[in-house]
Amino acid sequence: MDLIIDKGKCCGCSACMSICPKDAITMQPDKEGFLYPHINDELCVNCGLCKKVCTFQNGYDKEKSAAVPAGYAIKHKDEDIRANSRSGGMFTALSDYVLDTLGGVVYGAGYGDHFKVIHKCAHTKEERNEFRGSKYVQSDMNGCFREIKEHLKNNETVLFSGTACQTAALRQYCGEKLEKNLYLVDIVCHGVPSPMIWQDFLKMREKEFHGKIEKVNFRNKLQFGWNAHHETIVIKGNELSSRIFAKLFSKAAIYRPSCYQCIYTNKQRPSDVTLADFWGHEKAVPGFHTDNKGLSLVLGNTEKGRKWIESVLDKVDYIDVTGYPYRHTNMKRPTTRPENREQVWAEYFDKGFVYVAKKYADHEYKSYASHTMEAFLEKLGFSKKKKKTKKGSEKTKESTLKCFTKKTLQKLGLFNFAKKIYKHFK
Ligand SMILES: Cc1cc2nc3c(=O)[nH]c(=O)nc-3n(C[C@H](O)[C@H](O)[C@H](O)COP(=O)(O)OP(=O)(O)OC[C@H]3O[C@@H](n4cnc5c(N)ncnc54)[C@H](O)[C@@H]3O)c2cc1C
Ligand code: SF4
Ligand code: SF4
Ligand code: SF4
Repeated sequence: MDLIIDKGKCCGCSACMSICPKDAITMQPDKEGFLYPHINDELCVNCGLCKKVCTFQNGYDKEKSAAVPAGYAIKHKDEDIRANSRSGGMFTALSDYVLDTLGGVVYGAGYGDHFKVIHKCAHTKEERNEFRGSKYVQSDMNGCFREIKEHLKNNETVLFSGTACQTAALRQYCGEKLEKNLYLVDIVCHGVPSPMIWQDFLKMREKEFHGKIEKVNFRNKLQFGWNAHHETIVIKGNELSSRIFAKLFSKAAIYRPSCYQCIYTNKQRPSDVTLADFWGHEKAVPGFHTDNKGLSLVLGNTEKGRKWIESVLDKVDYIDVTGYPYRHTNMKRPTTRPENREQVWAEYFDKGFVYVAKKYADHEYKSYASHTMEAFLEKLGFSKKKKKTKKGSEKTKESTLKCFTKKTLQKLGLFNFAKKIYKHFK
């Protein structure tokens, strides 16, 4: 059985492995660290089910979703929930409803050994909380599709949250008969980096700081604000923030090949609800998001999704934005494959991760003391490189804050002193 001819046509969803009646398929990492199905020819009976279930190759039924989804700008009313979510905390509102009102279970991206990102099942809010926050790496499905099918067969309600390729695959795998109790949430997705590179990053930091990673945060919103992108890890109780993995993510060379050919980068999504960061909110809902603490764009794609959103509107502050021309590139087209992708990977294989981190993410080793000082100065409004801003946005507000800090320090006669400290620790 030839399941994959072109790697760009496999998103690694694991539906083929889950459906195989002979357990002939295993998901195995390739040299870039992405999982692909491998067929044991001795077990395979050529039934063709694996090929049939593959949504990424066969396409999905767009007609199940409205051409113009219901759209909302949403912030959870509970500030603590919003602070601990990637954007406005809508995932918590939706999953609370499934856990409390529908008595169901929730699947989402959490952590396994050594902060490997894996999909897990949560029966309680405490377990669900681990799924909050974007993990910028491909999540391992961890065999959860079969488990979910069992829940549905037992008439239990299941919320599954993940990238659109994962929700589409699960919907296809479970089939229409089991759709009634399946609630699907996808996230607008730029692409997923290699889990192997994530592990290399963590290992590099452990080596540099002589200890085991205790905690990770792919995007530290609390310290740096919603629109910034800094990862924070904790080693020996010390918080270390950087933009190493963030820069590699934004440069897009370490994404799964299928992400550059993604078939879900449009507004007719394969899930009941779609969540995104509400970029461009300044124009769409002026004055609604002014604290840089996070705002969700929420799309209700199906009748079930729209009703589900309506059921939780009392938990959130919202504005209806249905029909607004959302700015998100990844609802229009896939991320462009960087011209240097092959070069980056060739250098990685030849010279290793540290070389790639230095070359493409400006990584330079700094002591823990300089990390702390840099984070402190960044908070005060100093940053190493000035961001170019074209229009008035939160970036402009950051600049205003920087000016204010600078002026205050100047008035107090402390500006040159602070500058010297900054240069010393740079
Ligand atoms: C890889 C990735 C790329 C993204 N790209 C974009 C983008 O281009 N534009 C944009 O507007 N927003 C992007 N996001 C952010 C995403 O839209 C937010 O997670 C969403 O706004 C949810 O916000 P929330 O506050 O409601 O959810 P939270 O409470 O923070 O919940 C996060 C949700 O994301 C899921 N999730 C987290 N990490 C992963 C993962 N690795 N794989 C699958 N599911 C995951 C969890 O299961 C959970 O449902 C991306 C997120 C990820 C993980
Ligand atoms: S996209 Fe999913 S179903 Fe298709 S081959 Fe890849 S892992 Fe299997
Ligand atoms: S053809 Fe059938 S038996 Fe063979 S790998 Fe695919 S699903 Fe399994
Ligand atoms: S970009 Fe597309 S293929 Fe890649 S993870 Fe996101 S939904 Fe899946």
